[in-house]
Amino acid sequence: MRFRLEVKALIEVLNLINGQFCTTEECLENLNPATSKQTSVIPRSTASDVDAAVIAAKRAFPAWAILSYEERADWLDRIADALEAKSEEIAALESMDTGKPISLARAVDATRSIVNFRFFAEQVRELEVERFEMEDASNHVVMQPVGVAGLITPWNLPLYLLSWKIAPAIAMGNTVVAKPSELTPLTADLLARTLVEIGLPAGVVNIVHGYGHEAGQALTEHPDTRIISFTGGTATGKIVASTAAPMFKKLSLELGGKNSTIVFADADMKKTVAGVARAGLLNQGQVCLCGSRILVESSIYDQFMADLCKHIEAMKLGDPSDESTELGSLVSKEHRSKVESFIQIAKDDGGVICTGGKRPDIEEGAFLEPTVISGLDINSTCSTEEIFGPVIVAHPFDTEEQAVTIANGVEYGLAASVWTTDLEKGRRVSEALDTGMVWVNTWLHRDLRTPFGGTKASGVGREGGRWSLSFYSEAQNICIKQ
Ligand code: NAP
Repeated sequence: MRFRLEVKALIEVLNLINGQFCTTEECLENLNPATSKQTSVIPRSTASDVDAAVIAAKRAFPAWAILSYEERADWLDRIADALEAKSEEIAALESMDTGKPISLARAVDATRSIVNFRFFAEQVRELEVERFEMEDASNHVVMQPVGVAGLITPWNLPLYLLSWKIAPAIAMGNTVVAKPSELTPLTADLLARTLVEIGLPAGVVNIVHGYGHEAGQALTEHPDTRIISFTGGTATGKIVASTAAPMFKKLSLELGGKNSTIVFADADMKKTVAGVARAGLLNQGQVCLCGSRILVESSIYDQFMADLCKHIEAMKLGDPSDESTELGSLVSKEHRSKVESFIQIAKDDGGVICTGGKRPDIEEGAFLEPTVISGLDINSTCSTEEIFGPVIVAHPFDTEEQAVTIANGVEYGLAASVWTTDLEKGRRVSEALDTGMVWVNTWLHRDLRTPFGGTKASGVGREGGRWSLSFYSEAQNICIKQ
């Protein structure tokens, strides 16, 4: 099987610095992972490009910072309106750049990217000054803008995650320099063009493309970026932290996960099988929150595994631009090789491939069958390390305590889900889990006002609602003696 190439001419992705589009001497090729064909060329920004972007952001800061919340919220709404008019283009570009199904790119990526701007517009409009009265004095807290924010994002949810950082950062009066993943630059480029079209003041948002170890590193170590917000892998997070922390920058790290899905015998089986498959495989398993480690109560283990494999085998894998496709391509052939190497490790460790485990019959692209593995030791590599692909490992458990111990026995602490009709048990188990987020009888059910983030190696800090507003500002207490 072969898929058609969607672009007629190469797209030229450009940096946005101080309201101007520019490129670099050296450029990088960007491919459609589902066809292996080149779609675009992107700048390979160096430290001097990053420096120019930070200077522009610094220059734009004072005028942007003195606007009222209402004025900045109006800008966010204008951005949302302009993106909404292009939502189908966002979905198409995101699907082409990442290999994800168009239906997913439309329902999740395009929709959330627009909602992020509207949501944070609303959040700052509702922001109230906190006051603490004393007998002889009164305190009030001013949430001051910090300065230039460096925002670094991964490839799995490109505009969704970029807008999740840009919107609260600029809403709170900061100016930004963003570095998207070089694997998925197309919707960041669309955002840049949109910002210029609507006349956002020059320098408020700057976007530099290129490699993480070059442009990303330069942004992190730049003395004038006072905030670093990073979403990506735990290994990269360590490098970012070791650079930014000694410079006392405000630092948010949203990192990897190895999230458990705990299925009790009393769960509603039909809904649970579908929910567990979705949690494990959405976006080809390339979501930090994916439940890639399924723990199933022993009494239902065999039946559950049979039903789960049957459900997964019925999922439609193929052309991401086909409306009925449920599973697309992985983000690159290099990433697929990495995922395949984990499958090989699982086999070497005595794991049993219950379904999947190989490439489907598709000539081009980075496709891989959704894979379920059983029979591994709970401490084995594939049961404890983040694979970030369509690979689920399954283990039986006997007691509630054992399920909690296994779930907590990894270095990560991002998320988990618990499936049971006993809601008291669901609450009890959730509170015993060492993760930033837990869903009961659902997964990735998001209210944007709630805290998002992980414990242990899954990161530092929280995003979402007031947590984002607080991260992108400095709380200044003013105490006035009467
Ligand atoms: P990654 O390799 O860590 O890259 C993330 C971003 O950091 C990219 O823009 C990357 O640029 C850049 N980067 C690389 N080296 C850098 C350096 N030395 N300094 C500054 N920036 C640098 O992660 P990924 O493979 O793109 O994304 C997958 C990972 O992200 C998974 O572990 C997943 O769990 C995690 N993730 C976490 C969340 C969350 O909210 N917790 C959400 C989504 C994804 P290049 O692309 O050029 O390398």
